[in-house]
Amino acid sequence: MRHQIVAGNWKMNNNAEQTEDLLNALIEKLPDDAAAEIIVCPSFVNLSQAVQHLEFTNIAVAAQNMHEAASGAYTGEVSADMLKSIGVETVILGHSERRAYFGETDQSLAKKATTAIENDMRIIFCVGEELSERQNGIFEEVVQRQVRNGLFHLSEEAWPQIVIAYEPVWAIGTGETATPQQAGEMHAFIRNTVREKYGNDIAEALPILYGGSVKPDNAREIFSHPDVDGGLIGGASLKAEDFAKIAGAFSEHS
Ligand code: PEP
Repeated sequence: MRHQIVAGNWKMNNNAEQTEDLLNALIEKLPDDAAAEIIVCPSFVNLSQAVQHLEFTNIAVAAQNMHEAASGAYTGEVSADMLKSIGVETVILGHSERRAYFGETDQSLAKKATTAIENDMRIIFCVGEELSERQNGIFEEVVQRQVRNGLFHLSEEAWPQIVIAYEPVWAIGTGETATPQQAGEMHAFIRNTVREKYGNDIAEALPILYGGSVKPDNAREIFSHPDVDGGLIGGASLKAEDFAKIAGAFSEHS
């Protein structure tokens, strides 16, 4: 069976005290027997705290971004080595908010992906179309381009370190979700795109997560498609009870 993941992207939320509270609540509420790996993604300043707090739990910690350079004059940025040195082994790359507000492009993301792999980090690579692109019927083309331009320069050996998150931009933080059929079809399409380039074994082993307004009451249905291997959760990951229910919904399905 493919590796399954439920990851919470906290975005720019939670100071140190709120981080402590949420981590405690998650430890209490998350199911011990979740079939999926559970990951939380606090802001940079709270990563170290989260790693230490979760040391003896089965909850992993990921960063929300990182710079492609090893070190140097990049004020305000954080390197792979810095993340690794505090015990963070996974990084989200290419979230649509990074693409929209911070000018990240397929080309800059390809460089970040190379750096992450060179540093033996796991990547959760986000792709997804805008509403107008879905309405104009070019959503597959857009997502395929993001996957190819961001990841297809990597060698076969890199792929066990890669997770793709399909997050239609129109569904992020809007309360709109892709239907299970829309999500399932896009996940199958992404898997086929990877299959054409890297072959069946790599494509079949690739976890593809869905993200976009996943909540306790819709998680089970969205996760029910065989090509949906978990979720990247924004808003609902800030409430321990909701995040735990989402993780639980995934366990029930599997
Ligand atoms: C996200 O930002 O990755 C996300 C999926 O957000 P939300 O769940 O709030 O739509």
